[in-house]
Amino acid sequence: MNLSKLLLIATNGDIKKGDIAGTCVVCGAETKSGISLKKMVSGNFTGWNCLFSGNCMCPECAFIFSDQTFRRRSWLASENGFKTFKNDEACSILFSPPAPPFFIHIAKIGQKQTWLCCMNSVANNPNQYWFSHENYDIPILFEKNKAQLYLDMALAALDMKITKTELRTGEFKPKTWTMAYEKGCQDFLRDLGRFKRDPLWEVIVDVARR
Ligand SMILES: [Zn+2]
Repeated sequence: MNLSKLLLIATNGDIKKGDIAGTCVVCGAETKSGISLKKMVSGNFTGWNCLFSGNCMCPECAFIFSDQTFRRRSWLASENGFKTFKNDEACSILFSPPAPPFFIHIAKIGQKQTWLCCMNSVANNPNQYWFSHENYDIPILFEKNKAQLYLDMALAALDMKITKTELRTGEFKPKTWTMAYEKGCQDFLRDLGRFKRDPLWEVIVDVARR
């Protein structure tokens, strides 16, 4: 099942058919009832890098373009339904998703449809699955054991008043190093620095709440 079909089932949405035969740029499927790209995509669309080569959108993919909720909000879709969520809930949703198949998208400012890069990455395993986050043009792999380790370390760091920016970038302020040496936890700081540029680490830091 691809993401368009999952969202259609989850939202109980309606599809409208077009009359173009060809290849859907969103999912790559052949269609006989495609809709022209001009009708679906505005001039400031930013997701071209995620699209396939093709000439139209199939009715299922046109549906997910027609509803701005999918772009503006963080959401969770499964066969049992669709819900938007506040980012304070993102961490618990990542760790306790619904029964597969499901898909999770985390929006930040609600401008980029980064789930476009995840059309064929619907989750089948709650302990290891792909999800999307607005800041990344790639699917991000959630591995539960690794994510739990990251969360434990991020929360411990936040308790020490290390900032999220420091955690995400792995660049610590001099006063943070001073504090770490005073507390004898400089090795912990070095360990934190090793996670930089791992998208899962960056997302866990983003969604961690104290
Ligand atoms: Zn499609």
